[in-house]
Amino acid sequence: MVQNILILGAGSAGLLAAITLKKKLPQLTVRIVRSSEMGVIGVGEGTTPALPRHLFTYLGMSPGPFYARAEPTWKLGIRFLWGPREHFDYTFSHQLDAQWSNLPRPNGFYAHDEFRWGDVGAALMTVGKAFPRNPQGGGPDMSVGFGFHIENKKLVETLEGMAVELGVTFIEGKVSGTERGTDGLTALQLEDGQRLEAELFVDCSGFRSELLGRALGEPFVSYDRALFCDRAVIGGWDRSNEPILPYTTAETMDAGWAWQIEHEHHINRGYVYSSQAISDDEAAAEFLRKNPKAPSSPRVVKFRSGRYQRVWVDNVVAIGNSAGFVELLEATALMVVTLQCEHLITMLEHTTLKPTPTVRALYNKMTCDSFDDTRDFLALHYKLNTRLDNEFWRHCRADTDMGALRPLLDFYAENGPTGLARYTLPSQQNRFGIEGYLVMLVGNRAPYKARHIPTPAEQLTWTRNRATYMAQALDGLTVAESLRIIRSPQWNWNS
Ligand SMILES: Cc1cc2nc3c(=O)[nH]c(=O)nc-3n(C[C@H](O)[C@H](O)[C@H](O)COP(=O)(O)OP(=O)(O)OC[C@H]3O[C@@H](n4cnc5c(N)ncnc54)[C@H](O)[C@@H]3O)c2cc1C
Repeated sequence: MVQNILILGAGSAGLLAAITLKKKLPQLTVRIVRSSEMGVIGVGEGTTPALPRHLFTYLGMSPGPFYARAEPTWKLGIRFLWGPREHFDYTFSHQLDAQWSNLPRPNGFYAHDEFRWGDVGAALMTVGKAFPRNPQGGGPDMSVGFGFHIENKKLVETLEGMAVELGVTFIEGKVSGTERGTDGLTALQLEDGQRLEAELFVDCSGFRSELLGRALGEPFVSYDRALFCDRAVIGGWDRSNEPILPYTTAETMDAGWAWQIEHEHHINRGYVYSSQAISDDEAAAEFLRKNPKAPSSPRVVKFRSGRYQRVWVDNVVAIGNSAGFVELLEATALMVVTLQCEHLITMLEHTTLKPTPTVRALYNKMTCDSFDDTRDFLALHYKLNTRLDNEFWRHCRADTDMGALRPLLDFYAENGPTGLARYTLPSQQNRFGIEGYLVMLVGNRAPYKARHIPTPAEQLTWTRNRATYMAQALDGLTVAESLRIIRSPQWNWNS
């Protein structure tokens, strides 16, 4: 029976796991071992709506203290400088997997020529606003789907404070060895001689994957046939007169893509590239040429996309980068971390803290499906991008392995942007929904046979319908205005 849980690692994954376990199963003893000397990876600053939902809805934490400590800003989606359009916006709501009652076809058929502000989130992104105004009181109406932009250091410090308040114990030290029994690990050995026993070990040691990868030797499944990028150069600058944009930007680059993440006082920029296509120096030179405000020696981070064959083996469950990592294009890592934490609670609760082999197998399937879905979704981004005609992008278009998405692509090529395509998705737990795939297909103007040419009356209706979103957006609040309001003493988080 699980009573003592030992978590290795105090990056965002280890801290989220500790908070979730202690909040949902307070009878457990939860300890974290971490090495301040080794530190955390210190990246991961964009999220999907999964993180705020996990903290404030699933765990029921109060938003006020979190906002005060972590100082997040809001992300309504991603603006893609990608494909043949100047740009298109992917929001956390439904622009294309929808059909208005006054139009005969789903939205996607009308968005072929003009794909702009198809929901209120996209309209807000277009005018640089974060939220519509709440009709009662005029404050930000936060019912629009949002994720966060959060500086990693502030997120880790905030989560650490939350973990301490919940009664999680921190042990400083470097793990130097493990002891094994018949059912998995029995103890971790630290460099200073300490020996730490537990019934369940949660490996949140980042890319080192100390317990799952190194100690248990679980095989790694590479995603290198679908995703070719394996490095990033990172360098941001302090904000001067730039407005705080309510979205992440993903911009096509010569051998990959660049992100721009918007913090209140800082702009975080990075270029994800394939080391097969260009050298670190060439990547840094292109990055600096396009971002003259970035520091002259940007930091290089190496990564590999893939996952371990299983993430829960015997009494070791890996969460975060130690379980798998899919490159950052949709900033999904913390989303998978929160899913893993929630599923772990479900598995422990349903087995009254005595997890069975079949429950571990189910957990492995659910987690591996999430990683694989993300791989396929990101692969589609590369496959469809016709923005540049160079060796790297020709390689992406020709050789990206579409794996389980082939039925979706065939269906789309015949039938176009209908929500029926959802039934071709490989996993019905898919977190992106058919909306994500349709945004990529329509945004990149992927060709299909069943084109619908709107009548002039339909065109007018399409334009008028979207104008209601734009009217709301124009009357909305910017990120800076919204921050001022939520920091004022009058603001009520429950309003
Ligand atoms: C370039 C880049 C950009 C990214 N951007 C995003 C993004 O925008 N959004 C997103 O969601 N994710 C992003 N990610 C993923 C991001 O890294 C993770 O979301 C997040 O930081 C979780 O990291 P972690 O906790 O798994 O690992 P880490 O932060 O690396 O933490 C590992 C912990 O384990 C400890 N540890 C390891 N070995 C030992 C040992 N032997 N003894 C004791 N302690 C040990 C370390 O000290 C540390 O505390 C990005 C990743 C990269 C590479």
